[in-house]
Amino acid sequence: MINIAIDGPSGAGKSTIAKELAKRLGIIYLDTGAMYRAIGLKAVRLGFDTLDADGIQSFLDNTDIKVAYIDGVQSIFLDGEDVSVAIREHHISKAASDVSSIPAVRIKLVAMQRKIADTEDMVLDGRDITSYVLPNAKYKFFLTAKAEERASRRFKELTAKGQEVGYDTILADINERDYNDSHRAFAPLTQTADSVFIDSTFMSIDEAIAEIIKYIKE
Ligand code: C5P
Repeated sequence: MINIAIDGPSGAGKSTIAKELAKRLGIIYLDTGAMYRAIGLKAVRLGFDTLDADGIQSFLDNTDIKVAYIDGVQSIFLDGEDVSVAIREHHISKAASDVSSIPAVRIKLVAMQRKIADTEDMVLDGRDITSYVLPNAKYKFFLTAKAEERASRRFKELTAKGQEVGYDTILADINERDYNDSHRAFAPLTQTADSVFIDSTFMSIDEAIAEIIKYIKE
């Protein structure tokens, strides 16, 4: 199986780039963040504090997460409901980041990700794909950009969708998520020595994709 693993902080353009890369290569794309978002969404809906490990664990075994592809586009189902749109709400980003620090959540989702990755060639993106989920992936990339640039991209994306949220709030949230993602005890975000480093601060999406394809062809 050929797996292309892309890790990096929030808002670095990973999902846009991974999706387009998968399309060009004619393979599927697995957005692992969507799975953490689905658990975060469930915790919020049930009224749990998203950092309450015991509370989150109490519903984990009774939680069904499924990833499905319709015309090559990923949809995510939480207990049978398509939550692909609901998980993109801004406040769910924080909930996802919180629940992702709980080892039981990661163990459940990582097992699913490894199983999916074993079925066909695919591009996967996340925080721990190159270091923990698939350390033997054939191609590994660490994609990042300056926090201010990532915040401004996310601001444009959310305002285009009609969500009302200020740039300063987004930047503060990005900094907080960066810190949480790279400081959690279990499988934190880190750049592995064998990952190709790409800084997309001054790159367009197309340039970043071209850079990745260049390495794959080599
Ligand atoms: O990638 P996205 O921003 O949608 O991910 C939401 C959150 O899920 C991240 O902030 C991160 O905390 C968590 N996550 C993770 N490991 C992954 C993917 C996402 O911890 N492989």
